[in-house]
Amino acid sequence: MRAQPTASHFINGKYVEDTEGREIECIYPATGEVVAKLHSATPAIIEQALESARAGQKIWAAMTGTERGRVLRKAALIIEERNHELSVLETLDTGKPLSETLYVDATSGREALEYFGGLAGSLTGEHIQLGQDWVYTVREPLGVCVGIGAWNYPTQIACWKGAPALACGNAMIFKPSETTPICALKVAEILHEAGLPAGVYNVVQGYGDVGAALVGDARVDKVSLTGSVPTGRKVYAAAAEGMKHVTMELGGKSPMIVFDDADIEDAVSGAILGNFYSSGQVCSNGTRVFVQKGIKKAFLKRLKERTEQAVMGDPMDEATNFGPMVSANQMNIVLGYIDKGVEEGAKLISGGKMAKRDGFFVEPTIFADVTDEMTIAREEIFGPVLSVLDFETEEDVIARANDTEFGLAAGVFTNDLTRAHRVAAAFEAGTCYINTYNLAPVEAPFGGSKASGVGRENSKEAINHYSQVKSIYVAMGPVEAPF
Ligand code: NDP
Repeated sequence: MRAQPTASHFINGKYVEDTEGREIECIYPATGEVVAKLHSATPAIIEQALESARAGQKIWAAMTGTERGRVLRKAALIIEERNHELSVLETLDTGKPLSETLYVDATSGREALEYFGGLAGSLTGEHIQLGQDWVYTVREPLGVCVGIGAWNYPTQIACWKGAPALACGNAMIFKPSETTPICALKVAEILHEAGLPAGVYNVVQGYGDVGAALVGDARVDKVSLTGSVPTGRKVYAAAAEGMKHVTMELGGKSPMIVFDDADIEDAVSGAILGNFYSSGQVCSNGTRVFVQKGIKKAFLKRLKERTEQAVMGDPMDEATNFGPMVSANQMNIVLGYIDKGVEEGAKLISGGKMAKRDGFFVEPTIFADVTDEMTIAREEIFGPVLSVLDFETEEDVIARANDTEFGLAAGVFTNDLTRAHRVAAAFEAGTCYINTYNLAPVEAPFGGSKASGVGRENSKEAINHYSQVKSIYVAMGPVEAPF
């Protein structure tokens, strides 16, 4: 099989197998071919992961931040050297075209390891003088962190969670989505090759029940989930039982607003990046594209022309820039939403069908004349379906853009400087864009507000979510007591 890893799990510095676990088939979405067979973790595997993470964390936390950072930065270099091999695996795991994975996935993982490797030696507490007494604070790791990933960016998610957790001195147990089980194993292998002590970064495979068993275990101190809002509600509630720290990176239905004065080619580029990259399987996508009446006709014309230039095909061919859905299930969900769009009266401008080829391909799809109450304007589709909604005034569009339970991202295209900042300030979303869309540099916080999540990934903000501060009061004089 083309992507068969050495074994299903990576625990205590080595590959581990337990064939008693339920089988997981890894299917290449471009052909439907099974490229690897793995096994879900049994209770014995989960136990091994928890015990090795606890033991490994103590060794890791006893090292200096500079020593920890060196390991992360070395892993970043190894990822860079193996970019091509890792990108092919990412493509086999997800179906995303090599023209994306060569530049985005391993690269984004490498950047997280570089960035947090650089920060690791600089994590300190502070000194607070109180007359002659004083307080000092110590930034401590949380302990054992569990990371649970979605299927759209398996390498990136494994690194975005692992790099800050490890920089702070924690151990991690990562459970990938069973749809894309392979890439995180490579991240674990590379971290250990770079000198990570055994047990500090473990990968266990499994379905939701394995994630739930990890979240519910008293030996786990923190849970970081990337997934849908319904799963987020369950995982957050289970973590609350044990009063565990959480980061929730959940779904969205983000707005993108295009004013009459916007640069039309830039706005169309933003709409393409925010709807069709990774075949639309991106949490922060701006799927509700609000277009001001005066620019609508020209915008739709260019959007349709440029979208119809997408090259759908073999993801391993670097000329391909539009791949399949991750699974047959996801394809059927997306086709169901397209049917709903037509049924509810939206105007189909482009796409709308399965492609006539093997694999789980859905054409990039554009709807116009979408209204706020239509299902395709309210629910997260997680596929290549772009909805254009009309608007006239700034006040009206801001109210409509914010009228959603989600708050992950939002974007505005305009050449009016003050309006751009006014609209960005009014957005109820954690990650906002002015005249661009969907960039996620490691240096900037990323995450959602409202139902889209809790906490932030990337940047110095992530350090606060993988460490805690201990205050130590130091008395320099006699102790006064009332009696
Ligand atoms: P799911 O919510 O279905 O699953 C996410 C992960 O949680 C999977 O590994 C899943 O395992 C696991 N899981 C499911 N149930 C439980 C449970 N009760 N306890 C613990 N773990 C559980 O999401 P998808 O994988 O379908 O990914 C798509 C979603 O992810 C979209 O909503 C998208 O918006 C969101 N997402 C958010 C991002 C962000 O940064 N905000 C980025 C990328 C995606 P299993 O797969 O076996 O069910």
